[in-house]
Amino acid sequence: MLAPNITGGNQTFSFVVIGGGTAGITIASRLAEDPSVTVALVEAGSFYELTDPPISSTPFGDIAGVGTSLSDVNLDIDWGIVTTPQLGLAGRSLHYARGKDLGGSSGRNFMIYQRPTKQALQIWADEVGDDSYKWDNFLPYFKKSVEFTPPNTKLRAANSTVQFNPSAFSSSGAPLHVSYPNYAQPWSSYAPDALNEIGINPTEDFNSGSLLGAQYASMTIDPNGEVKASSQETFLTAAKNRTNLKVFQLTMAKKILFDSQNHATGVQVAINGLKPFVLMASKEVILSAGVFQSPQILMVSGIGPKATLAGFGISVIVDNPNVGQNMWDHVFASSTYQIGVDSVSRLINDPAYAAAELAAYEANATGPLTNPGADFLAWEKIPSDLRQNFSQSIHQDLSFFPSDWPEIEYLMIPGFLGNFSAPDEDQPSMGNYGTISAAVVSPLSRGNVTISSADTNDLPIVSPNWLTHPADRALIIAGFKRARQLSATKSLQNVITGPEIFPGSQFGTDEEIFQSIAEFSMTIWHASCTCKMGKIDDPSAVIDSVGQVIGVKGLRVADSSSFPLLPPGHPQSVVYALAEKISDDIKLAHSLKF
Ligand SMILES: Cc1cc2nc3c(=O)[nH]c(=O)nc-3n(C[C@H](O)[C@H](O)[C@H](O)COP(=O)(O)OP(=O)(O)OC[C@H]3O[C@@H](n4cnc5c(N)ncnc54)[C@H](O)[C@@H]3O)c2cc1C
Repeated sequence: MLAPNITGGNQTFSFVVIGGGTAGITIASRLAEDPSVTVALVEAGSFYELTDPPISSTPFGDIAGVGTSLSDVNLDIDWGIVTTPQLGLAGRSLHYARGKDLGGSSGRNFMIYQRPTKQALQIWADEVGDDSYKWDNFLPYFKKSVEFTPPNTKLRAANSTVQFNPSAFSSSGAPLHVSYPNYAQPWSSYAPDALNEIGINPTEDFNSGSLLGAQYASMTIDPNGEVKASSQETFLTAAKNRTNLKVFQLTMAKKILFDSQNHATGVQVAINGLKPFVLMASKEVILSAGVFQSPQILMVSGIGPKATLAGFGISVIVDNPNVGQNMWDHVFASSTYQIGVDSVSRLINDPAYAAAELAAYEANATGPLTNPGADFLAWEKIPSDLRQNFSQSIHQDLSFFPSDWPEIEYLMIPGFLGNFSAPDEDQPSMGNYGTISAAVVSPLSRGNVTISSADTNDLPIVSPNWLTHPADRALIIAGFKRARQLSATKSLQNVITGPEIFPGSQFGTDEEIFQSIAEFSMTIWHASCTCKMGKIDDPSAVIDSVGQVIGVKGLRVADSSSFPLLPPGHPQSVVYALAEKISDDIKLAHSLKF
């Protein structure tokens, strides 16, 4: 199925999918279910498993190369994107990890699988004028991808009981594995009682349309061997015998080609050492290059803000100033303590322990290497005592978010985070550490992405504008204070062995807390919405509700850039569900086999 790198001549397929990431692999493999069509999948990277085996396949291996430091980058599997200096983060420029591999960011992510809330999807449906995105109608697409495996209670510690809702999954769902790690973080086992003490109660699960409350998160982990379940490990493996799906790995999409009627006819691609060639699409081109590169590829192909395109000598096909705008993202702030139970810090600093645990993982799929890190989550609206000092306009702005949309997510992280410059190298050389992170999941700051040249070999310019909206600043300060309240609970004081070691009690007032947040906080890598979906007459839209690019024919965008808004929480479940839905839309439009 993998195209040998020497087949560099023009070729014709029914569909050409750009980007072999989370959405792209899902769509390509679904379209290839109909043997009467042919599908080309174009991916700039290759197999992430080839770098640093076996760690790169383990859930624990997610922390490699994701730091904010410009040197914590593995260019074999990461694009090396660095943001512009961020006003809201003390002028810092941060490495923004993004998968460049078969699997895309699903091959690099932290594996948390959780779905949005019902009211968040209602807003999505209303904004795009399409009831298919309402919870009840969209739920079948979440279920379609997922093969769910309940927690292994024989292997998990007795104090890590998971609640879940079996009816959130379908027995026919496949091939994306969603399960729970065989090892639960000891730090997390203290969280349920501690959260209860500050008024956050347990909830049954995070996959049934509500989030407020606390629970262990389900994860994209393949229980057969406890390996990371990326789109490549699941969808692409399941499609391996489909000869009508041809994967062009290590192949860069250069631009989308159009005929005189503005119909997308194919994609110009380049493989190192070969002359550029064209993959013609007799039916459609599907763009799934992710939140930064889908808008980049639209722009270099002539769809975007006229002045920007003109500046790089690109002929304008559609003048749409919204391409690359409207970026939503989540940022988090953290408070760290030395703790009296094992954590990731020990795995990194104690070679004998690490060797024994690697052996246990390889022999029995047990131990801390089966765990991605943040396995216990909680969600809330900031309680009234901490929002009393919010200004009237902040209250007004936050009223956009409905009652089931949390403002803050808390993550129990079993290690030292610091400024997250390089998490595996940043662990202090002695001791175990536990962190409580608070992420703003109702953000109002909006970023953007634009091009630096007419060539996709040059990285796009990414400006997330994090924490530039006053409401986001108020929320992250309040969330950080709640994290400190949590650390002071009787339950957590049973495991915390000293004072806050990062950022430290010298950051006490709101101003000081925000100063530390600006200096140390970072993204949780959820950037979305840069090719915004909307009603056909929405002046801010780039695509319609079935992903078709407004103003041209034969071209859709389907990935995290397509979201009209970023629902609360971790977005991969939405990327997979959207990819399933757009695949069905395409099949319907071309009368393909389902
Ligand atoms: C470190 C990290 C941790 C995360 N943790 C979580 C988590 O725990 N839970 C969660 O839900 N979400 C998480 N996310 C976010 C989630 O993984 C992403 O939102 C999602 O995977 C994005 O999917 P996508 O299809 O939009 O893009 P991607 O999966 O990034 O796919 C885009 C693909 O396009 C390819 N591409 C780009 N340009 C070109 C070109 N010119 N030619 C050819 N190919 C190209 C890329 O190489 C890539 O493979 C995390 C992300 C990161 C980076």
